[in-house]
Amino acid sequence: MNAAPHVCHHCDEPITDPDDAVLLGHEMGNSGPGWDIWAHRKHANLVGPDPVAVSILARVLLARAAGAED
Ligand SMILES: [Zn+2]
Repeated sequence: MNAAPHVCHHCDEPITDPDDAVLLGHEMGNSGPGWDIWAHRKHANLVGPDPVAVSILARVLLARAAGAED
């Protein structure tokens, strides 16, 4: 039984061909081991140079917006 296919970070479609899957990085989870970020080979350059950093930045900005009262 195969594991679930990776999902492309750009188009949200499953990556059914392992040869077409590009590992972009690893995102840390708040309460778990986190997860890997994958994209189709042809979409990898469309996601951005560092999707993990962008995601972390977005999370920081959201947390700041939710918590900032000054
Ligand atoms: Zn894709």
